This record gives sequence, structure tokens and C-alpha cells, in this order.
Amino acid sequence: MVSRVIPVEVFDLVIFGGTGDLARRKILPGLFRRFCAGQMPSGARIIGAARSDLDDAAYRDMIRDAIAEFGGEQACDDAHLSAFLEQLDYLKIDARGEEGWARLREIMSGEDRIEAYYFSVSPALFGEIAERLKKWGMADADARIVVEKPFGRNLETARDLNRTLATYFDEGQIYRIDHYLGKETVQNLMAVRFGNMLFEPLWNSQYIDHIQITVAETVGVGDRGEYYDKAGAMRDMVQNHLMQLLCLIAMEPPARFDPDAVRDEKLKVIRALDPVDPHHIVRGQYLARDGTHPSYRDAVGEPRSHTESFVALRARISNWRWAGTPFYLRTGKRMSARSSEITVVFKDTPHSIFGAEAGNHRNVLSIRLQPNEGITLGVTIKEPGPGGMRLIDVPLDMTFADALGEDGADQVDAYERLIMDVIRGNQTLFMRGDEVEAAWAWTDPIIEGWVTRNEVPKPYESGSDGPIDSGNMMRRDGREWRKVSP
Ligand code: NAD
Repeated sequence: MVSRVIPVEVFDLVIFGGTGDLARRKILPGLFRRFCAGQMPSGARIIGAARSDLDDAAYRDMIRDAIAEFGGEQACDDAHLSAFLEQLDYLKIDARGEEGWARLREIMSGEDRIEAYYFSVSPALFGEIAERLKKWGMADADARIVVEKPFGRNLETARDLNRTLATYFDEGQIYRIDHYLGKETVQNLMAVRFGNMLFEPLWNSQYIDHIQITVAETVGVGDRGEYYDKAGAMRDMVQNHLMQLLCLIAMEPPARFDPDAVRDEKLKVIRALDPVDPHHIVRGQYLARDGTHPSYRDAVGEPRSHTESFVALRARISNWRWAGTPFYLRTGKRMSARSSEITVVFKDTPHSIFGAEAGNHRNVLSIRLQPNEGITLGVTIKEPGPGGMRLIDVPLDMTFADALGEDGADQVDAYERLIMDVIRGNQTLFMRGDEVEAAWAWTDPIIEGWVTRNEVPKPYESGSDGPIDSGNMMRRDGREWRKVSP
């Protein structure tokens, strides 16, 4: 199956933080893959802007190595790689001072083309860069800025940041990245919900018992310890990625697939969330494992840290569609497998005509974001063979790579899709300022409650699925977590 690639218009993309981890691991390898796919026009320019003292040649060498290390070089051949690197320039700039800004303006003041500025730097620099872009005459009405996470650390700081950015740019120019929204399956979730007659009539509390959203990682905090210990799983994962997934699964059908129609519906979901009952939240912190992995506290170098590396909670949405259907959210580090999955568990049939011995069977729709992106629907059928009516559950499997062939999932990474959306001017898969604030307004009281009660996270074994209390929370509701499977 051949995928259609439509080239974007000629653009200039300035990557502030062009030598950083994110730029080397995701942004530039992603752009190279789009180049190989024929989506990047030959006149496009990418300008890496950072503090290091490099010239163009040294920067191109750095990015050549990054592409070799972080994937992308297999997308095409050496000739393409050299051609791509030719479109790459470097500029030494100081986000906090004056160095480099006059030169950047000179570079950007050529012919009329799409201008995008990617803020791949510490959030502490977002405001300063926006201010300097304005001061140096680069905040034109059609310029776009791309802002990385974290977007604030609570409602107050997110509001401040929104206000600062709004001083220099309109909301329609601001692209707040949540890379989960760029995943193929996440968009497929909308296609499945709103492109089929089959699901929508059942998509409510009358037919759905509950929904689980799990984002499990096997890695620990790694070298992000200093940042992570000030954030924790709630800020790092729930407030953004898990809440975005919750919105997409729970929102009403927008009238059109356009940025504000979709984001209006997502916002309504966040605003309809009830405060979370403290008895329905479990926080955890991972322990050391067999001398191979340090404990969370050792990894962050804080022997008394109360920061959670795991959180599980029950959310409720108070509206007509969802009253009575709980949403269970769970995320953690050092869990048993790396897996991101949304599971929709339908209710039992109203009456089993096959008798008690046929057992209870429920339809389960699983939407897997990673690995092996795909959608599976569990249906109940008769077990083949003689001997009466025994029922079994079998999956109707639509793993994209199987269903659509090698090109089906097209291996388009979330970042490359999102960057191309920025160039196209499509904000559908980016968070709007009011959405981010509403998400903080929901998570802030939860975090404040932990601090007020001086709550200590429950320890859990590395390689497990979180603290025992997480399973107990489900069992009290008469339910079970789905197994975290790779
Ligand atoms: P990093 O520390 O690896 O890189 C920071 C970059 O900023 C470097 O290029 C550095 O030269 C530049 N920089 C620092 N101070 C500067 C200044 N005064 N003027 C100009 N440039 C300056 O950081 P990173 O991991 O690449 O993260 C960048 C952003 O992306 C952060 O907001 C981070 O939260 C976010 N993010 C990163 C990841 C990731 O996987 N690395 C994932 C999600 C979000």
C-alpha cells in the first residue's frame, strides 16, 4: 500500500535548542524522514539556534550523527542525507541576551515564506524568546511558535505563560505540543468513533461499564531526576497525555474536524470532570531491583522524596453521556512492560441465554498506542467442536502493520506529523490555552491535597504494575486492571 505524501509549502523553521536532546533525538531525525518521504520542499531551511559555539559544518556533523543514532538514516540513502544537511544552518544565539538576534532577523527577512519557531528549550526561556521575536520584528501575524511541555507546573504558572505568549502572539499562532496527539492510533481513535456507525450508538454509560487508560513505562527517571522529582507522574503524564486521551475518548462528536470544533469538545470534557475522591487515587514510588536498577529515591538523589513515579485514579465525568461510567487512569515508571493502551469495557449482555456455565463475557475494545499500534475488539463466539455451547472470547484484530501492510502504519513518528501540521497551519492536534488551564484546574487540587496531607507514595516493586493498593482500588469497585502487556 502506497501512502500519499503531499509536500508542504516552502518554510523556514528555527529550532531554539537545536543542539539539545529533543532536537537531536526527535525533531531533526523526524524532519529527515519527511524529507526522504518527499514532503519537505527543497527550498525549505532549518536553522538550529542554540548557545554552543558551532559553525554550520560542525552542526551538520552533529545532526548527521544524531540521525545515525536515533533513527532515520535508514529512511533513504547517503545522497539524501547530504542534501538534507545542506538545508540546515546553525546560529549561535542567547535567548536571554542580545547575541545572535540581529543575524536571525537578517536570515528571516528574505522572501515571503512560512516562518515557524520551535521553542525546544527550558520553559523558563519561552517568555524571553517570544519577547525577543517581537522586539526584533519576527512576530509577524503569520509566524508560528511551537511550545514544548511542560506548559506550566500548575494553573497559576500556566496562566502566566499563556498571558506572556499572548502579549506577542495570537492564539492561532501558538502550537502547544502534546506528542501523544500526534500518534497514528490517537487519530484513528477519532476515525473509529466518528467514521463508523457501529460504535457511536453504544458509546455511553448505558453500554460501557468503564474505560481504562494505561501508559506504562519500563524505564526509570534516568537522567531527568532533577526535573522529575519536582514534577512527578501527575504533572509529567496525567495532566497532559492521559487527560488528552481521556478527552478524545469521551468528547461529543464535533460538528467538523477542525481545530476549534475539536478543541471546544475536549474542553467540555475537562470541565465536566468531578473532583477526584482521595480514596480513588493511589500514588507509588518504585523500589530498587536486584542491584540492577536503583530505587526512585536513589535515582533522583532525594532519600526522603515524596514525589510519585506512579499514579492510578478514578475519574468521573458528570454529563449525560458518561454519568455512571468511571474512567480509570494509570501511569508509572519501572512497570512490567512498556505499553500505552485505552480499553473500553462494555457491559454484560442483559440476560445470558446460554446459562451460568457459559460464563460472563464482555466485549472489550482495546486501542493500543504503543507498541504495535492497533485496535482490537474482543467478541464472544462459540468454542468450536462438539459438546454443547461453550463460549470463548476472540479478538478481531486490526494491528495496523498487519492490516495495512508495512506502509500501513508508515512509521510516521508523532513529532514529524506534528511539525508538518505546524507548517500546514493545522492546530487540531495541539492544545489550546484554555484546555491546558482547565486541565491544571482539575489536577491542582489533587496535588495540593497530597501536600496538605503530607502523603507518602506507596512503594512498589520495579517490574510490577504498581502498588498493591492500585489493584485494591479496582477490586473495591468490582473491577480489575487489564494486564499490562508489551
Ligand atoms: P536540553 O537541555 O538537552 O537542550 C537545551 C537546549 O537549549 C540546548 O540546545 C541549549 O544550547 C539551549 N539553550 C539553553 N539555554 C539557552 C539560551 N540562554 N539561549 C539559547 N539556547 C539555550 O533540553 P531538551 O531535553 O532538548 O528539552 C528541550 C525542551 O523540550 C524542554 O522544554 C523539555 O521539557 C522539552 N521536552 C523534552 C523531551 C525530551 O525527550 N528531551 C521530551 C518532552 C519535552
